[in-house]
Amino acid sequence: MVLEQRALILNRSWIAIGTTSVRMALCLMVRAAAHAVDPVQGTVHDFDSWSRMTALEAEPCVRTVRFRLRVPEILLLSRYDAIPRRRVSFSRRNVYRRDRYTCQYCGAHPAENALTVDHVIPRSRGGKTTWTNCVVSCARCNRRKSNRTPEESGVRLIRPPQEPTWSPCLTIPRDQRRSSWDPFIPAGLRLREI
Ligand SMILES: [Zn+2]
Repeated sequence: MVLEQRALILNRSWIAIGTTSVRMALCLMVRAAAHAVDPVQGTVHDFDSWSRMTALEAEPCVRTVRFRLRVPEILLLSRYDAIPRRRVSFSRRNVYRRDRYTCQYCGAHPAENALTVDHVIPRSRGGKTTWTNCVVSCARCNRRKSNRTPEESGVRLIRPPQEPTWSPCLTIPRDQRRSSWDPFIPAGLRLREI
C-alpha cells in the first residue's frame, strides 16, 4: 500500500530526523507544514506544485480520480512545530527499552524471552498498568515478589519507574529504505518513526 510506505523527514537544516508514512507526509504538505524534495532535481515543492508534476509511468504514485500524485519520498519541514512531540506509547516492548532489558529488582540481564513486566503495586491491590507502576523483572524476582508489594517481599527497586521522555528508536526495515535518502543519512544513523 503506497500510503503506508515511508518518507524521510528533514528538519529545516536538511538533517534527517526520522521517517513518517506517505499518508502523514501528504497531510503535512497540505497543511503547508512541510514541502516535498524532488529526489532527482533536489527542488523543493509545496503541495500545489508537487501535485502539478506528472508521475512517470514507472514511478510509485497515489492514484486519485483526477490525477496521479507522485509519492513524496523526502520531506523538508517548513515549521519548527510541524511535528508535535509524541508521548511514548505504553507497551511491553517500550517498558523493556526504558529499563534497558534489566531486572529492576536485582539488575540481571536475562534473555528477552525470560523477562517479565511486573506491577510494583500488584493489580490485585489496585495497582495500575502504567509507566510508574510497571517495571522489567526477571522471572526469579517476579516469583519471589509474587502478589506482594516490594516492601512485603523484601525486594527493592533500583530506581523508581517514570514515564520516558525519549521516542523509541526504530530501525526502518531494509525493504522500506529508499536509495534517494542516502545523501541525507550519515552511516549508522538510526531512523526514528514519527
Ligand atoms: Zn531480578
